[in-house]
Amino acid sequence: MIAPTERARVSVTHGRHLRVRTLQGEEIAARSAQRNLHIVCGDWVRVTYDRQHAELRVLAVEPRSTALYRSNARGGGELIAANVSLLLVVFAPVPQPDLFVVDRYLCAARSAGLDAQILLNKCELADEALREELAVFAAAGYRCLELSSHAGIGIQTLREALVGQTAMLVGQSGTGKSSLLRVLVPGADAAVGSLARDQTGRHTTTATHLYPLPRDAELLDSPGVRDFAPAVEQLPHDTLGFVEVETLGAACRFTDCLHLQEPDCAVRAALGTQLAARRYESYRRLRRLYQRLSRAQT
Ligand code: GDP
Ligand code: ZN
Repeated sequence: MIAPTERARVSVTHGRHLRVRTLQGEEIAARSAQRNLHIVCGDWVRVTYDRQHAELRVLAVEPRSTALYRSNARGGGELIAANVSLLLVVFAPVPQPDLFVVDRYLCAARSAGLDAQILLNKCELADEALREELAVFAAAGYRCLELSSHAGIGIQTLREALVGQTAMLVGQSGTGKSSLLRVLVPGADAAVGSLARDQTGRHTTTATHLYPLPRDAELLDSPGVRDFAPAVEQLPHDTLGFVEVETLGAACRFTDCLHLQEPDCAVRAALGTQLAARRYESYRRLRRLYQRLSRAQT
């Protein structure tokens, strides 16, 4: 007899351990029925009850609406989260911000079909120069928000932005993502703490959690991959996920223009007007990285 299956959502992954949330809202331990079934947090799965082991068995993974990959050391793609709709890219005045990192996340979001929003956290410490950088992102079409989890600035606006979304926080370490998580998900600490230690109390690799929030919002927190690099194989070859290059590149003389040295390049022609010099520099940097990793793959 074939056991009836139910839909469930993968809400915690920790190494090979899984927890799923049933449609009734119950969170239950689960195990993959097959070794080669690749399951990540955010996945919708088909489960059946295994009476012998008193746990759920995952029989199949449903098709994903989005799949976010990170790059491993050799530039290969590694799936980190499924069905995320919004990437929240956090940067802050301290530690020293690396805007190349911000750009890389934006490219990862673009190429995976996720919306992205930029959060300038610790905004009470931001100077004019940093606000100008934020304005560059806004001019490129990104929604930007100044935030301070300490001063309580922008939190309500962020909550509104999360309605109906499955969001994920990424950004350089130290930009205040854990602090934001604590504000948005009261009690998240306890859940993280219990899973982040093994029986001897030692810290192990931390778990990835999908937290349900009010008003049909969800927050996916993956402490281990908050500062990932996009998978090269997921980036579009001609634009690398830079939105300005997408728009401007249509007018380049060559359809395969890489916007580096080619004549009549509309992207370079827009430098300093529709394309900020810093963003173009970042494009060139990601292009070099892309070429290096592509070579390493072959
Ligand atoms: P994460 O590494 O991105 O998770 O960053 P944390 O949440 O651990 O925060 C790093 C440091 O920034 C901590 O010392 C926080 O107290 C501090 N921090 C977080 N949010 C704010 C803020 O809004 N303003 C200021 N000034 N500091 C903050
Ligand atoms: Zn061009």
